[in-house]
Amino acid sequence: MAKRGVIIVAGGSGSRMQSSLPKQFMILGGEPVVARTINTFAEALPGAEIVVVLPQEHIALWKNLAARFDVAVHKCVAGGKERFDSVKCGIEALSPEVEYVAIHDGVRALVSKRLIINAMLKIESVEALIPVVDAVDSYRVVEGEESEVISRSKLRIVQTPQLFRADTLRRAYAQEYNPRFTDDATVVEGLGVKITLIEGERSNIKLTTPEDMIYAEAMLRQSEN
Ligand code: C5P
Repeated sequence: MAKRGVIIVAGGSGSRMQSSLPKQFMILGGEPVVARTINTFAEALPGAEIVVVLPQEHIALWKNLAARFDVAVHKCVAGGKERFDSVKCGIEALSPEVEYVAIHDGVRALVSKRLIINAMLKIESVEALIPVVDAVDSYRVVEGEESEVISRSKLRIVQTPQLFRADTLRRAYAQEYNPRFTDDATVVEGLGVKITLIEGERSNIKLTTPEDMIYAEAMLRQSEN
């Protein structure tokens, strides 16, 4: 079977959570957010190599936490200034034999095993794929005092995990950083690679604010019942 790699990026500082503890370490359903994310990937993809990217200053804190919870085997590396730099550190930590890579935001702890498994099966027939969901709100583009509605029928909300053939990903991350790189798909697109869209999950939210944690706790309670 092809060797699979998973890069879980949790290298951000999370200032929007208004908490001194970065959101990736907050307790959700009895375990740290990033522990839940790691364990979901480990269960969905047995035998996959898992690399977690954290800010250098949080590595000791994480090692301490990880020793107190049941966390699947993973490697932990320090990230960089931009998400781009953090992903690059994650890629460098993967073994050269890895053929397919999933990159996931550590704070998207509600991702389902089903989405991960489906995405991993699909990546064997395409070069790059990302999960998306329809936009349900109305959107306006604001310029100074003026604003203009844009049609949501053409909009999609982009999630992770984003999956790539490892050779494509390594080539993409050899490019120089560009501020237009907002996620991994935009980096890979820089090579002219087509990005395949698959159906994401509304519940696969990026835990960003204190309200998100309340929502996530409720979702977990519901799925346990
Ligand atoms: O900042 P934003 O919410 O877009 O970050 C998306 C993901 O990238 C988060 O999981 C965050 O921890 C990660 N990140 C990172 N290194 C950075 C900035 C963000 O790993 N320098």
